[in-house]
Amino acid sequence: MIAPGSRRTMVAMQLDRPRTPLRMVEMAWPECGPRQVLVEVAACGVCRTDLHVVDGDIDGTLPIVPGHEIVGHVVERGADAVWNRGQRVGIPWLARSCGRCRYCRDGRENLCDAAQFTGFTRPGGFATHVLAEADFCFALPDHLDDVHAAPLLCAGLIGYRALAMAGDAGRVGIYGFGAAAHIICQIMVAQGREVFAFTRPGDAEAQDFALSLGCRWAGRSDVVSPRELDAALLFAPIGGLVPLALRSVRKGGTVVCAGIHMSDIPAFPYALLWEERVLKSVANLTRADGRAFFELLQSCPVETEVEIFKLAEADAALAQLREGRVRGAAVLCP
Ligand SMILES: [Zn+2]
Ligand SMILES: [Zn+2]
Repeated sequence: MIAPGSRRTMVAMQLDRPRTPLRMVEMAWPECGPRQVLVEVAACGVCRTDLHVVDGDIDGTLPIVPGHEIVGHVVERGADAVWNRGQRVGIPWLARSCGRCRYCRDGRENLCDAAQFTGFTRPGGFATHVLAEADFCFALPDHLDDVHAAPLLCAGLIGYRALAMAGDAGRVGIYGFGAAAHIICQIMVAQGREVFAFTRPGDAEAQDFALSLGCRWAGRSDVVSPRELDAALLFAPIGGLVPLALRSVRKGGTVVCAGIHMSDIPAFPYALLWEERVLKSVANLTRADGRAFFELLQSCPVETEVEIFKLAEADAALAQLREGRVRGAAVLCP
């Protein structure tokens, strides 16, 4: 409870240690730096990366407030911040890059040596409020409400960056049909690509969902594709899918691993990589990706499907995601 006369506070769901429930905590009202904004959170998507943080698959700062698909409104701004009070902003995974290292100078700030990440190395959006670097926030398309825009900020953006790495591939396989896949497949279908969706064996619901969004084919992920693929995008964090995807792409085809964490990739014969097949990963995002993606959505609108949870239900949302029981994306609302 807030004692009378005390300073204002905010509320967040905090992870103290991996593999323990999040704890609702009251925190001091953050002070804006000159180039920062304080944002009142309207919606925050729950990403598989949050699950990797909570499960201790990846090591960041602890304790931490997870959440990096944030939509909210500016309530306070630093003197040099580019946003005004009341404006809606989106806050993504890349919280800040240094601007000086070789990667930043090269236009590859996603690989910055000193990058900070929302909900991983600094507090994220499983909260009523969050502090963000003004220069790293995005304007969002007006036609999407807060809840439906939230999954675009990581699932959408990372899907977009992964697709860019597949070049002009005409027939593309998607492995794992969750939040990212359900967004990027709509864009691929609109672009006239053929999309093949590979899901957990027996997950008829995900396969039906994929077909309803225009995928040409949907089926189990543990067999070779019924048609040769030009590229494959892996959103499921399962290393065993890598050799299967390589088996399914044509000569010169590309397999893109889109997640921050994956179980070990089993040994496979060199013949699967031979003939100039390419295996690569996607790391984080750049601000240029964000601007291009949200620009694309003006002419190629996507609909996101969301399941809404209260902020206090963050653990339940994470549990459903872990069990593969979220259709589209889970979103928390304070
Ligand atoms: Zn840098
Ligand atoms: Zn994410």
